[in-house]
Amino acid sequence: MKRETTDIEFSVLGNGLDFIYEAASQLVSLQSNNKNIDNSERKLKYVILHLSSGIELVFKYYLLNTHWTYAFHDMNNADEVAFNSGDFKSVDFETTIKRLIKLCKIKFLPKECENFTSLRKYRNKIAHFSCKLNARATKNALHKNISLIYKFICDHIKQTDYTKDEGKTLKLIKEVLASLDVYYVNRKNLASTEQTRTDIEDIYDCPECREHFLAIFEDGSSHCFFCEQELDAVRTAEIYIEGTLGITSRDVQKGAEYPLHDCPYCGNETFVITDEIERIGKCFSCHDELQVAFCCRCGKPFTQYIEGESNIICRKCLAEKMRED
Ligand SMILES: [Zn+2]
Ligand SMILES: [Zn+2]
Ligand SMILES: [Zn+2]
Repeated sequence: MKRETTDIEFSVLGNGLDFIYEAASQLVSLQSNNKNIDNSERKLKYVILHLSSGIELVFKYYLLNTHWTYAFHDMNNADEVAFNSGDFKSVDFETTIKRLIKLCKIKFLPKECENFTSLRKYRNKIAHFSCKLNARATKNALHKNISLIYKFICDHIKQTDYTKDEGKTLKLIKEVLASLDVYYVNRKNLASTEQTRTDIEDIYDCPECREHFLAIFEDGSSHCFFCEQELDAVRTAEIYIEGTLGITSRDVQKGAEYPLHDCPYCGNETFVITDEIERIGKCFSCHDELQVAFCCRCGKPFTQYIEGESNIICRKCLAEKMRED
């Protein structure tokens, strides 16, 4: 009689591929069936968790295949006995990426790192906090991560290193990925059609789905044709500043002035100086376009613009000054 065994063996790579396949096939079913909303929200959560774990395991497999000590959180205290028993604190995700780049000489593009990090952020949000996700943008991030990890596996893990089962799972991932690619192309075509219909030319990268489909309209409101996200006024103003005025946070660190101010009309910090010479600004909250003057005392823009006048003071500062005198 054959003895029944209770031992189950999981390999690091096998586990990683399995999680990725599970996530990818669930994502396909979510893309094709949007009707059962309650269930799909729940499923999306697990796709994020599974994919995140899968990617982490594949990266860890690569690290420990290069050198077993790389899998330890603290490489100085790497211990072979602990390694063989699997009872040790393993490297975190951020350090994993750093080690892949620095120690294993993997060349990730900045966009690839951004994508892996964005999935990680989704994962941390749902694992540790309550959160609100844009389903379409999240699914797009998941699809991109599946493509990237599939590419990583094909580029960096030799086919001869797979077991038969691992090879099979990888083939399944490839098939599912093809369906996801079709969905993505269709979605992109739809977004393009919608964009063409509105006749709007100022299009920006959407911070939610990272697709180049974010429109900022004349009145200062925004809409992404890909993920349907509408951004709040502050975020729209920031994207406008970077995309149209070409001022980035790096420029500001180098001393450039950031053209975002309190709106003289509604008071929100969403007033962007769009024309410095004419001193014209646009508010992304109240959608007003105003010609302004800058107060010589507090530096804030205010509406009583007098041609040629340079030493002018805003009403609030004037009142304060009179009280002081
Ligand atoms: Zn978007
Ligand atoms: Zn305003
Ligand atoms: Zn003032």
